[in-house]
Amino acid sequence: MSSRVASTRALVALGSNLGDRLVNLQVALARLAQEEGVSVLAVSSFHETEPVGGPAAQPRYLNGVAQLETELEPRELLLCLQRLEARAGRDRVHEPRNGPRRLDLDLLFYGEQRLSEPGLQVPHPRLEQREFVLAPLCELEPDRRLEQCGLSVRAQLAKLVGSAKTPSGVREIVRFDNPLAAGVWVKAQRARGLSVGFVPTMGALHEGHLELARAAAAKNDLAVVSVFVNPLQFNDPLDFQRYPRDFDGDGAMLAKVGVAMVFTGTLEQFFPGKVGADGRLAGEAWIEPGPSACGLEGSRRPGHFRGVSTIVNRLFEQIDSTRAYFGQKDFQQTLVVRDLARARGSPEVVICPTSREISGLARSSRNQLLSPAERARAAGLFVAQSEARELWLAGERRAEALDACLHAALTRQEFEVEYAEVRDPEAWSAEARTGPLERAIALLAVRVGRTRLIDNLRLDEPASGVR
Ligand code: AMP
Repeated sequence: MSSRVASTRALVALGSNLGDRLVNLQVALARLAQEEGVSVLAVSSFHETEPVGGPAAQPRYLNGVAQLETELEPRELLLCLQRLEARAGRDRVHEPRNGPRRLDLDLLFYGEQRLSEPGLQVPHPRLEQREFVLAPLCELEPDRRLEQCGLSVRAQLAKLVGSAKTPSGVREIVRFDNPLAAGVWVKAQRARGLSVGFVPTMGALHEGHLELARAAAAKNDLAVVSVFVNPLQFNDPLDFQRYPRDFDGDGAMLAKVGVAMVFTGTLEQFFPGKVGADGRLAGEAWIEPGPSACGLEGSRRPGHFRGVSTIVNRLFEQIDSTRAYFGQKDFQQTLVVRDLARARGSPEVVICPTSREISGLARSSRNQLLSPAERARAAGLFVAQSEARELWLAGERRAEALDACLHAALTRQEFEVEYAEVRDPEAWSAEARTGPLERAIALLAVRVGRTRLIDNLRLDEPASGVR
């Protein structure tokens, strides 16, 4: 039975350089959040860093910092962190000093307390010299004073890396509420010789969308984003009605990540003269998707990919971009869009990794529709996929066995499952595969209350695109 103290803000450094580093960190955070007397308030992005000290040629680390609110005493919190390390397979007794590890959890700060006991020194005595701690810490508490150097986290980090981090300036963003005007603007930019990265979205933007926008802005001279809740791809009118919308808020977020232009429009503006009085699109305007649209989402949401192909094709016609950015989160959609772009000959399609919340829950505009309890439950999707990944890593290659593992994990957590399957991502077919797989992706759709969620996870690849 643990004793309770008044709630205290604590900061914990996380690191991993062995196994699936991202999963190790995400699972540790999910488990930490489930500990009694601990809430995870915020987590920095994960930074890839060179190992400091220890044996030569060890793998690079992923490092981050988590901000906690805790009722555990410092020693109890330390033991809790050590338990989580052990659960992740770390063996503190036998491992070499500074050697590779699946999980490293260090208590950096416990409120403003100063403790110097065996094995428990806070603030952590070496943190001020460690860029790999200060960089993620700076995202959460840039103004915290460091007692050894007397500087703020931001200033000490700047000293270490030799350049101060300045808050990013917000650029002007051009807004159009008409796709024709947006298309003309893009043409003019291309005529000046500029490359354009395009991110189609349905708005209610979150960090996942912003990742796509950042990728577009980084690789191209200009990034542009469309925000359009496309009625053609909703097979359920209630789902269309409930879909969150916030065009002004979206524009403000995009300006901060350096997007040059955002536009929206109505169905009539996208397809002038092709929308009837009943709001239906004329038959000849529809674009049929290729065979990747069969099965899974395609079966569960009849007409969905036809609606996606139709609007994406129209967007590609109107917005003459160099590259278009889509998320791995909607895996089957990426196949449909790639087929479409290949058939047209442009643009180049870039797929970005799925952005996840601390709990592992894939970010989605629909997450806004979940109650706090449903949101907590929804994190179980990542747990189920991670269990299938562990089975894959243990050598299981039979699709049926991997499917069964996924189903068992979802059923155990009482999800209402629409589908949950493991497939070969590069040999896509409408039918579930049997027999051994060479590559594997777990895909699932479930209902959590009234909200439908989808997610997927490559079982055969180390997690990438970590931020
Ligand atoms: P949506 O607004 O849901 O149509 O999504 C617009 C684009 O953002 C699509 O290419 C999605 O795959 C992508 N996207 C949505 N959620 C995420 C996420 N969590 N991580 C990465 N990309 C995402």
